[in-house]
Amino acid sequence: MDIKSTIETVKGFAKEIAEIAKELDKAHKLMILGHKNPDMDCIGSQVALALAMREHAKEVIIYSNGPFNGYMSDYEKLYVNKVENIDDIDLFVVVDTSSINRIDVDFELPLEKVIVLDHHVTNENFGKVNYIDSDLISATEIIFMLLVFMDYPFDRNKTVVQILLDGILSDNGYYRHIRTDKYMSLIFTYLLISKGADPKETYDKMYVNNNIDEVKLLGKVLNRIESLKDNQIIYTHQTDDDENDTVHLSSALLFLQMTSIKTGKIFVYFKVNAAENKVIISMRCTPEYDVGSIACFFGGGGHTVAAGATISGDYETVKKKVLDKISEVYFP
Ligand code: 5GP
Ligand code: MN
Repeated sequence: MDIKSTIETVKGFAKEIAEIAKELDKAHKLMILGHKNPDMDCIGSQVALALAMREHAKEVIIYSNGPFNGYMSDYEKLYVNKVENIDDIDLFVVVDTSSINRIDVDFELPLEKVIVLDHHVTNENFGKVNYIDSDLISATEIIFMLLVFMDYPFDRNKTVVQILLDGILSDNGYYRHIRTDKYMSLIFTYLLISKGADPKETYDKMYVNNNIDEVKLLGKVLNRIESLKDNQIIYTHQTDDDENDTVHLSSALLFLQMTSIKTGKIFVYFKVNAAENKVIISMRCTPEYDVGSIACFFGGGGHTVAAGATISGDYETVKKKVLDKISEVYFP
């Protein structure tokens, strides 16, 4: 099957894709950036694009400060988190990142050299060329389309097809988040599997990869669940002592269980960092609600049904602010 004509038929290539392919073609030295606290969609997008561009004999820097949790630690060695000089970089590609303050970078980016590839509705279009496609469930799908457009020989590089599949399946929750208006990843994952990517390999990385203390922590955090408004708002928290270098609870694993509560509409996970007097919040909701706008209100962002923010203050204060806001907007 010809992948290019299949994508042309099912979706079509946006005009920005051609523009971005041309920019990539021209550039000699590239830097690929993503968002703070990268997830596998971010890492998959960065690494797949970087490996493919290196085959075009380009010098490519992949930049992130991590942390590279769980199976994402396999990719840490490919990254740098320091650069001496950025003057000789022709092009900066920012993936999966909705706003400038979410970019994981320690220096000022020359925006006239920035290309943005993203799928967040809230994207601020801060680059010179922006391809934002919120019909797609992952940013990795954009990288896939771009490489297809550039006639990348997928058969030659099993690593690239596997990383693309890993990134897509991470954001589509191994097919759990497919919606009637976001089904393209079904087709794209099929195309990648036809090129040698192994979905079982992705599954094992995502779901058969916890250590015993992580599953115990999941139990502990689930045990702390509380609710409001007739069990429609469901929330829990984690404290400073719960996580350490070898124990990390992924929000995906937690929400998998939390969102199984039938009455639940809005789900909040507070990750308390008392040492730095801040709380990181992760939220999910059913499709009739919009946690993205709640996250934006607190200076964060994300998607309609999955979003987050970092809020200064102690747990009790932040918890009250967030739950009051959700109650006021949706359950007055
Ligand atoms: P998670 O709950 O898995 O950490 O994040 C869910 C979604 O919300 C992700 O798509 C992520 O990009 C977005 N998100 C999480 N935290 C923040 C934040 O502080 N700011 C913005 N803009 N988006 C966030
Ligand atoms: Mn993403």
